[in-house]
Amino acid sequence: MSTIQTLIEQVIRPDVLAQHVYAVPSAAGMIKLDAMENPYGLPPHLAEALGRHLAGVALNRYPVPSYARLKQQICRHFGVPAGYGILLGNGSDELISLLIMACSKPGVCILSPVPTFVMYKISAELAGARFVGVDLKPDLGLNLEAMLAAIEQQQPAIVFLSYPNNPTGNLFAAADVERIIRAAPGLVVVDEAYQPFAGASFMSRLPEFPNLVLMRTVSKLGLAGIRLGYMSAHSALLTEVDKVRPPYNINVLTEATAEFLLDHIAVLDEQAAQIRAARSSLREKLQRMGLEVFPSSANFLLVRMANAEQVFAKLQNSQILVKNVGRMHALLADCLRITVGSPEQNQALLQALQRAL
Ligand SMILES: *Cc1c(COP(=O)(O)O)cnc(C)c1O
Repeated sequence: MSTIQTLIEQVIRPDVLAQHVYAVPSAAGMIKLDAMENPYGLPPHLAEALGRHLAGVALNRYPVPSYARLKQQICRHFGVPAGYGILLGNGSDELISLLIMACSKPGVCILSPVPTFVMYKISAELAGARFVGVDLKPDLGLNLEAMLAAIEQQQPAIVFLSYPNNPTGNLFAAADVERIIRAAPGLVVVDEAYQPFAGASFMSRLPEFPNLVLMRTVSKLGLAGIRLGYMSAHSALLTEVDKVRPPYNINVLTEATAEFLLDHIAVLDEQAAQIRAARSSLREKLQRMGLEVFPSSANFLLVRMANAEQVFAKLQNSQILVKNVGRMHALLADCLRITVGSPEQNQALLQALQRAL
């Protein structure tokens, strides 16, 4: 064995050695409908004005770690309740990881319905926590009885609820979420990454529940590239989690871009409205092709079909990249997750699907 291999096995944790790299397939030249990105860029006049704005940013300076102006704008634009602050993350991925890190006492449990967003489990296990997944029902709704029983038995420090859920797209019943928040002995994170498409939120209900943590991101709204997430909760809790945050985790370009675009948020809101309209139309057309399409409150559709593996491969040959989730969980057998794109992209998808089925 080479020296480096011996060295690696000596120093790297065995659970890390056993893990696979989070694989992101190359999408060069493809219609990219795999990652819930907004298909629209910024209008040219806005992109140019942003460029001029960014030219004035002092790249030689560290960010000011209070991020006061950006936080104020986010609170105002996204309805954070009065008296509630936020913590910023390098994507909400980082916030998930920071919160888990802050709570990871030896033997701690992190619990979530499954299938769901994979980062809850990945971050939990990296932090040395035990991840417990509770299966959804076959219709992909929350199994409330099983959730309550598991919470009682496992006493999780954190319950993660993706609301709407990724990769299923559905919104769990608000009454069920409320029951879970009341039953949980620890924190309950309601992850609203898809809030722009959902028409439902727990944000305004933060003051009702001291153990409720609300997470959001600007990624699905159209700014996945700048990596910015935010989290709100009782200020005393935020103070503790803030101790785990690297002080300069939001870089100056992200900060300046977000500040600039939040002053033009109507552009992104309008794009989200177009995506919501395209979602209904795409859903109908897929159903008319005889496919099973699950209800979605997000900017993607979960679709079940015979031979999903082959269809996935044929779509790829037609330069269309969707996400094959069939092997993620038994409940998702024969399912593809398809991001809602622009009308042209959706048309191309439908044509390629027609040929592939
Ligand atoms: C995409 C997604 C995130 C991560 O968002 P980033 O801010 O891009 O890190 C978090 N939660 C859910 C449920 C998501 O689907």
